Amino acid sequence: MTITMRAGSGPDELLHKVEVLSEQHLANCYQCGTCAATCPLAAQMDLLPDMLIRHLLFGLPGVLERRTLWVCVGCESCTDRCPRGIDVARIIEALRQIRLQDRGDELAVAQLPDAARELPPIALVASLRRHTG
Ligand code: SF4
Ligand code: SF4
Repeated sequence: MTITMRAGSGPDELLHKVEVLSEQHLANCYQCGTCAATCPLAAQMDLLPDMLIRHLLFGLPGVLERRTLWVCVGCESCTDRCPRGIDVARIIEALRQIRLQDRGDELAVAQLPDAARELPPIALVASLRRHTG
């Protein structure tokens, strides 16, 4: 599927950006809830993956502010099990990218606690790559 980026802003534009970045057609989702049921982090999310897609389709506000974007670890269980072949993990990754582009870094490097220095370097680098623009 080829989707080209267009100019503008608003809820429709967010949906369009997500579809361009993720290369997924969100209207293919029929809201079965399998992605949410198989997500190991669902209990920590403030908007389950199926609801997140519905919010995007309906143009509901606040999607980019959801904790779900940062709780998702990209394990792709949702993607593997979606009966509609939707790459849900990629949709959430697209939202993270948009959020980082629009609002700057999610993780302030200068404000990391001293305990962060005890982390394995690869964990620290991976976290910074994922949470900073
Ligand atoms: S598993 Fe696929 S079709 Fe079902 S709610 Fe999730 S994204 Fe939609
Ligand atoms: S990729 Fe994210 S949303 Fe999908 S199952 Fe894994 S943690 Fe849950």
